[in-house]
Amino acid sequence: MTFAAHPGFWAFAAFVTGACVGSFLNVCVYRIPLNRSVVSPGSHCAACGAPIPWYHNLPVLSWLILRGRAMCCGTRIDGRYAIVEFVTGVLFLSLWLRFPPLDAVVYAIMCSGLIAACLIDLDHFIIPDRFTLGGCIAGFIACTIDPRLMHADTPLHAFSWSLASAIVGALSLLFIGWFGTLILRKEAMGMGDVKFVAAICSFFGMVSLIWTITISACIGSVLGLLLIAVQRGAWGTRIPYGPFLGLAAVAWLFGGDDVTWAYLHNLQHNWGVANSPLPPSFGH
Ligand SMILES: [Zn+2]
Repeated sequence: MTFAAHPGFWAFAAFVTGACVGSFLNVCVYRIPLNRSVVSPGSHCAACGAPIPWYHNLPVLSWLILRGRAMCCGTRIDGRYAIVEFVTGVLFLSLWLRFPPLDAVVYAIMCSGLIAACLIDLDHFIIPDRFTLGGCIAGFIACTIDPRLMHADTPLHAFSWSLASAIVGALSLLFIGWFGTLILRKEAMGMGDVKFVAAICSFFGMVSLIWTITISACIGSVLGLLLIAVQRGAWGTRIPYGPFLGLAAVAWLFGGDDVTWAYLHNLQHNWGVANSPLPPSFGH
């Protein structure tokens, strides 16, 4: 059986898997900060406590069919649950279409952690260590199993590069945080963000730092200014930084990688031409 023989089926399977994982991520986001098990008890209504049968717990579909209300007691169910399920489904599908199967699976697992971490940060202004430090360890393991993720030839080379990237990522964020605190005179960066970037770098390598920091800062600034405009100058509004890092990381997978490397090659090329006695066309 090959994946190429039934592309439609596998694409559909990727979406459904993503939607189901998204449903589980909703449970994780709700329960992990409360220190409750994500496995038991099974799904039950948050309002009346009635258990939810599987046929009323289908990702996206149940929310649409029940029109956003709980079957048991009619309480409104937040649309965010269905959105998370749908977005995770689309993300899994996109990863499947873009990457070779093994890479797609690794990135799907990584993105699941990213989504849960970002939503918890949004709700509670924390990113639990199991996502950040756990993410680092997952990155080291993933790169060792699939050295291609680090553009490396051997597992040892990939592991070393992944480890070095996580350390460089953490140190860079610590430095930016220290610099920001100096200028803003208040804590500019939480340790959660530092560890989160280390985890992202352990999967993507240290070159991704340039992209992740730039893009997350851009998204953060635009959204921050929008929020200030909407709320009429509420400068003190606290916005978690994790979701911006998460968005930038996902964007890395869908073009940021290519853009950053093209930029670096261009830079190197221009520098080389300006400092080289060779004709510009040399080597091309
Ligand atoms: Zn209920």
